[in-house]
Amino acid sequence: MPQTWDVQADVVVVGFGAAGACTALEAAWAGAQVVVIDRFGGGGATALSGGVVYAGGGTPQQREAGVTDTPAAMFDYLALEVGDAVSAGTLREFCEGSAAMLAWLERYGVPFDGSLCPDKTSYPTNRHYLYYSGSELSEREAAPPAPRGHRARGRGTSGSVLFGALAQAVGGSGAQVLRQTTATALTTDSSGRVTGVQCSTLRGAPGWAAAAHRVLHGWSARPYVYAPRLGRALHRPVAWLERRYGRPLLVSAQRGVVLAAGGFVANRQMMREHAPGYRGGLPLGTPGDDGSGIRLGAQAGGATRFLDRISAWRFLSPPEALLRGILVDRAGQRVCDESRYGAAIGEAIVTRPHRQAWLLVDHSTVARAWRQLRGTTLWFQRLQAMYLLTAGRIRAPTISVLAARAGIDSGGLAATLNAYNGAAAAGLADPAGKPAEMVTAQDQPPYSLIDFSIRPRLASPTPMLTLGGLVVSEETGQVRRADGSAVAGLYAAGRSAVGLCSRSYVSGLSLADCVFSGRRAGRHAAADLWARSPGPSASDAW
Ligand SMILES: Cc1cc2nc3c(=O)[nH]c(=O)nc-3n(C[C@H](O)[C@H](O)[C@H](O)COP(=O)(O)OP(=O)(O)OC[C@H]3O[C@@H](n4cnc5c(N)ncnc54)[C@H](O)[C@@H]3O)c2cc1C
Repeated sequence: MPQTWDVQADVVVVGFGAAGACTALEAAWAGAQVVVIDRFGGGGATALSGGVVYAGGGTPQQREAGVTDTPAAMFDYLALEVGDAVSAGTLREFCEGSAAMLAWLERYGVPFDGSLCPDKTSYPTNRHYLYYSGSELSEREAAPPAPRGHRARGRGTSGSVLFGALAQAVGGSGAQVLRQTTATALTTDSSGRVTGVQCSTLRGAPGWAAAAHRVLHGWSARPYVYAPRLGRALHRPVAWLERRYGRPLLVSAQRGVVLAAGGFVANRQMMREHAPGYRGGLPLGTPGDDGSGIRLGAQAGGATRFLDRISAWRFLSPPEALLRGILVDRAGQRVCDESRYGAAIGEAIVTRPHRQAWLLVDHSTVARAWRQLRGTTLWFQRLQAMYLLTAGRIRAPTISVLAARAGIDSGGLAATLNAYNGAAAAGLADPAGKPAEMVTAQDQPPYSLIDFSIRPRLASPTPMLTLGGLVVSEETGQVRRADGSAVAGLYAAGRSAVGLCSRSYVSGLSLADCVFSGRRAGRHAAADLWARSPGPSASDAW
C-alpha cells in the first residue's frame, strides 16, 4: 500500500548536532529540500562540548601564532592515532582539506583565534584558543609537532558557540528543523531502498507538555554529563512526556536519509554489551546518545565497527607541573609516558589491574602544582585539581611507607623511581619515552601518590565517549552491509558512523570528523543536485 507522507523532503537528517548541521548545510547548498529532525531542541553533545576542532596544515590561526605546520606533518601524526579507522587516502584528504574546512566553519560564523596556549593542558583557559590538544609533543620523532586544537572563541566550554553559529546558518539555509521529533524506524521500498523516516513527535501535543519537555530536557542536559544520576532522574519525566503525548509522523526522503544521531554512551545495555571494561565513567553526551541512530542503521542492514572503542579521559594536567611525576600501577610499574593525551592515559589505566593508577610526585612538584592552579585552569579543572591535591593524595616521608599506605608494591615503586631519577640525573632518555623537558627527578621528600584510578567519583571522574558506529563508504558516507554493498538511500555521519576518531580520539578530532563526515554525507545524499551547484563548497573553495 502506498505510504501517506506527512512531510516530504529530498534529504532527511536524523539528529541536529555538529554532524547533522553540517550535513544539512551542504545538502541545502546543493539545492536539496532538507528536513532535519531532532528528539530535543538540537545541539546534542556538540553544544555541551569544548568546541575544540582538530585542524592544521597551516591554518590562519596557526600562522598568526607563528606556528609552522603542513598537511604532511599533520598526516604523519594522525596516522599514528587513527590507525586503520579510515584509509590512508581518506586521512590524507582530511589533512589536505583541513585549513579549508576551518575556513568553511568560519564563513558560517564559527569564530576561531590564534592565541597560543603556553601550557600543556586538557583545555585552555579563556585567554587561549590554540593548543597542543593531542600527544603531538610525545610523538615528535615520528612527526613534526604543531598545536592543532582550535577552540571556538567564547567563554567557558565553547561548544555552544560552535553549535549556535551552525544552527543559525541552517536556519538561514532553507532547511526545515522539526524539533521534539524522534526517529523510531526507517521506511523502505520493495527493493530495500530507504525511503523515509517514521517518527514520534510532540508537534501538536498540548502546549504545556511541549514546553515541559523543552524545559526539563534543558535542565537535565548538563547534570547528565557532570552528575549522571541526577541527570537521569531529571530526564525521566522527559521520556514519559514523549511516551504519553508523542504522535506518529511520517517523513519521506526522495534522495536519502542521513543518520547523525550521536553515539551510545547513554545506553547502559549497549555499553555493557560492547564495552564492559568501561564501567563507572561519566557519559560524555546527552540522553540522545542512546544508540538509536546506530540501531536504526543496523536494522536496515548496516554493519557496525569499533563499538568496543571508548575514549576514557584521565588528564594529569593542568596544573602542568604534575606532568613531571611518574604514573604507576599496583605493582609499582610505570603505566605510560605521562605527557600523552588524557585518552591515551585513560586507555593505559583501563587495562591495568583493578583499573588503578597513582601519580608519584615529590614535595617540590606538589608545591609547584599549587602555584600554577590559579592562572592555568578553568573552574572545572581547578575543582578537580584541588580535590586531587588534597583528598585524592596520600603522602609519606619515605617511599616504603607511602607504598604501604596506598597498597602498592614497595620494591616495584622504589625501582621505578630509581630508574626515572637515574635517567634524569644522567641526562639519558626517559624509560617511558617522556620528552626531556618534562622529566624532572622526583627526589625531595615527603613523597605523594595522587590517585588517578578509574572509579565512579564526582570529584575526579573519568569522562567517556563512544567512538564506533555504522560502517560507511569513505567516498560517499553511504551505510554499508557486512558484505560491503551499500544500503540504498542511507547515509551516516558523526558519532553514529565509523570515522576518523573511531580507533583513537584526541581533543577536537570528533568535532572535526563530524564536519568532515557530515559535509560528505550531505553532498552525496543531494548527489546530482550537488554536481550542478555552483556553490563554493562544491568546488571546495572555502
Ligand atoms: C562535555 C563534552 C566536551 C566535549 N569536547 C569536545 C571537543 O572539544 N572536541 C571534540 O571534538 N569533541 C568533544 N566532545 C565530543 C563531541 O562533542 C561529540 O562526539 C560530538 O559533538 C558528536 O556530534 P554528533 O553530531 O555526532 O552528535 P550530537 O552532537 O550528540 O547530536 C546528535 C543529535 O541527535 C539527536 N537524536 C538522537 N537520537 C535521535 C533520534 N532517534 N531521533 C531524532 N533525533 C535524535 C540528539 O538529540 C542530538 O541533538 C565533547 C563531548 C562532551 C559531552
